Amino acid sequence: MEKQWNLDKLYSDFDSSEFAEDKKNFLSLLKEINSWSVEQEQSPVQLAEKFINKLKKCYFYYSKLVAYSRLTVSVNAEDERAQKEVEKLEKKITELTRSRVRFQKWLSELDDRAKTLYENSALLAEHEFFLEELAAKSQYLLSEEEEELAARLQQTGSSAWSKLHQRLTSTLTVTLKVEGEKKELPLSEVRNMAYDKNADIRKKAYEAEIAAYDKIEKGGAAALNAIKGEVLTMTEKRGYDSPLEKTLKDSRMEEKTLETLIEAIENSLSDFRKYLKKKAEILGHKKGLPFYDLFAPVGEVGLEFEYEEAAEFIVKNIRPLSSEMADFFKKAFSSSWIDALPRANKRGGAFCYPIHPIQESRVMANFTGSFSNMLTLAHELGHAYHGHCLKEESILNTDYPMPLAETASIFSETAVHEAALEEASPEERLVILENHLSGATQIIVDIYSRFIFEKELFAERKEASLSSDELQSLMIQAQKEAYGDVLDEEHLHPYMWLNKSHYYSAGQNYYNFPYAFGFLFGLGVYALKEDNDNFMEKYKSLLKVTGKKKISEVAKQADINPGAGEFWEKSLDKVREDITLFIKLADEYA
Ligand SMILES: [Zn+2]
Repeated sequence: MEKQWNLDKLYSDFDSSEFAEDKKNFLSLLKEINSWSVEQEQSPVQLAEKFINKLKKCYFYYSKLVAYSRLTVSVNAEDERAQKEVEKLEKKITELTRSRVRFQKWLSELDDRAKTLYENSALLAEHEFFLEELAAKSQYLLSEEEEELAARLQQTGSSAWSKLHQRLTSTLTVTLKVEGEKKELPLSEVRNMAYDKNADIRKKAYEAEIAAYDKIEKGGAAALNAIKGEVLTMTEKRGYDSPLEKTLKDSRMEEKTLETLIEAIENSLSDFRKYLKKKAEILGHKKGLPFYDLFAPVGEVGLEFEYEEAAEFIVKNIRPLSSEMADFFKKAFSSSWIDALPRANKRGGAFCYPIHPIQESRVMANFTGSFSNMLTLAHELGHAYHGHCLKEESILNTDYPMPLAETASIFSETAVHEAALEEASPEERLVILENHLSGATQIIVDIYSRFIFEKELFAERKEASLSSDELQSLMIQAQKEAYGDVLDEEHLHPYMWLNKSHYYSAGQNYYNFPYAFGFLFGLGVYALKEDNDNFMEKYKSLLKVTGKKKISEVAKQADINPGAGEFWEKSLDKVREDITLFIKLADEYA
């Protein structure tokens, strides 16, 4: 089984004739779209069709080109050619802005006449949601010239800062003493040591990580201040009340839904604290659980995986649920879709990149053999399956909002988790539950701390920039609020703002609550499989419409109402059950 991905289906090389050819096509389509204007002799249907057709084609080439370039950079931060291509492409695509704004304004002025577009054209009917959303969002648009300027300035503004942050963190090395020998290790590798069985390694890795941030904290803080500053300027200028309002609009989500979700999370904090308290007790901490032991494995059972074993385990356990999904996962493993192992200059963490034009995805991971690494693979493959369900859709209907982005990944992760739990001995069950709950704690409790942090950050950034010290103390405050007194006050993580790349994307603010939403939504959807015969069909149809309906409408496909507290409480009850069982098993076996 190959452990590095293969991108040949995109291009063999930046110098290949295919890359040059596609680039040429992309550029000429861009030109054609930019010449789009309201010509009186053409009917509204003709005008709209022309725009949509060209846009689809343009995105086709752009997606291919930029996927290849970005994927190449993600496994080799030092590849300057790839970096340059990403930059050039991202800059080029901003040229769409002017014509898009022109089109959007024209569309919104059609008002009631827009209906006739969908009645008289199958192409436009297929893109009704896309077009309606464009029209509705035109109220937040600036003038054509301003939009173009803003898009261009963003390349040297927030986008550049965000790239700097990525470069700082992916090239940062951490000095760590391993078996008496001093080593310079990539940040991702050192952070992975949080899962190590050896308590001393976990602690040392944490201390070395915290110490290493000293080298990049000023640059990181400058990037964060610049990005959030730009976001504040732009959202205000566009007429949003706050960046949060923009995120909700972009998420196709109602404020009421977020409030209900946050309330349910707050209700569950005391339950999570019971788990954390028990974990501290098991690990022998008297002053509360230190941050570096949040991910510490508990129990004697190893549960380590070779990469091939992990692949087999995932496929085997998905099969009872859906043989189609299992075959799909198998194909991903055997067709070199996955870049599995850590190496120098490779980005940390894991992600899935769906590439609609080739109807495939690529997955990047930093697999080192833990049970949680195995679940991460299941998670990312869930994303890939989501992409697979969308492959027949128009590329313009595949852009799903952040809160729905985690549905399929959590679903697949939960399926593998449950199966592992089922076949486990009590001792193993303790280990698996622990692993699951430490993940759930991240997605609910830590995410809650990140939500508080980001809200505070925006409030303070509005007045002035924040120093690294100030960012650290904001982070600590937020962690205290979320975790309560069960964490060791002296050992929190003041640099989470520097570590998490989510804060550094100007286009995606508050990329935290969508995780909690996605986790609980995925759990809720998964729970429905119990009393539903053709559940997998319902599930697939839900995934299929994620890019072309509002969240409440998508949820309706599976009879879910995300505006009601009940739904969230039910998902959280599932976690509460796990906490109770964990405490019981811990008392017996730990
Ligand atoms: Zn994910």
